Amino acid sequence: MGKIIAIDGPSGVGKSTISKLLSKELGYMYIDTGAMYRTVALLAIEVGLDLTDGIKVAELCRSLSFSFHIEGDTVHVLCNERDVTEEIRTHEMGMHASIVSKHPSVREVLVSLQRGLGKQHDAILEGRDIGTVVFPHATFKFYLDASVDERARRRYRELIQKGEKVSFQEVRETMKLRDLNDSTRAIAPLRPAKDAILIDTTRMDIPAVISEILWHVKGKKTKKWK
Ligand code: C5P
Repeated sequence: MGKIIAIDGPSGVGKSTISKLLSKELGYMYIDTGAMYRTVALLAIEVGLDLTDGIKVAELCRSLSFSFHIEGDTVHVLCNERDVTEEIRTHEMGMHASIVSKHPSVREVLVSLQRGLGKQHDAILEGRDIGTVVFPHATFKFYLDASVDERARRRYRELIQKGEKVSFQEVRETMKLRDLNDSTRAIAPLRPAKDAILIDTTRMDIPAVISEILWHVKGKKTKKWK
């Protein structure tokens, strides 16, 4: 098995942006595990499944395979060869993903797929439970956090740029609800691994966060990134 970097944290903290840039910088494979839960929600809705039916949703998961390809600044998410990149990135799909991710049977299937993907190459996996459950022996574990207001601001900007019609208040409320769902669920709740390096990004820009992570990964020798 190659090296594994786990990047965990709540929604809107910038995990995807940071992980994507790091994977380019280090030449590691990038695995966005949130995208997998989002895709499961999308496909379950398309075939008319009740998202609260864990058995049926898990059955669907067993027929899926995933891959990720970086093209320019975009990470393409392919599920059974279908490119779902755009469709899964809505505000609504984030909420649906949070519902399907509560089912232990769904998590079991996706965690096993994530381990399989991570073992192929040096990899960066981002999610909620990478350092605690998926790869508890990851080479490096980072837990990114930021205040809920700052995270809501970041997510709001991103959604507006993509042309979604949402209000800041709506984004902030959904984010709080998702935080609550993700941190209080019985299985694999969102929390930092005991040995994770915590980074509060509230007042940090992206290059500062990357510099800090690279400083740990490259043996505390790197100075500033970009
Ligand atoms: O990170 P992202 O916003 O794409 O994640 C969508 C949802 O998927 C999260 O709110 C969470 O419920 C779920 N998730 C999870 N475990 C992961 C990644 C995401 O439960 N490793």
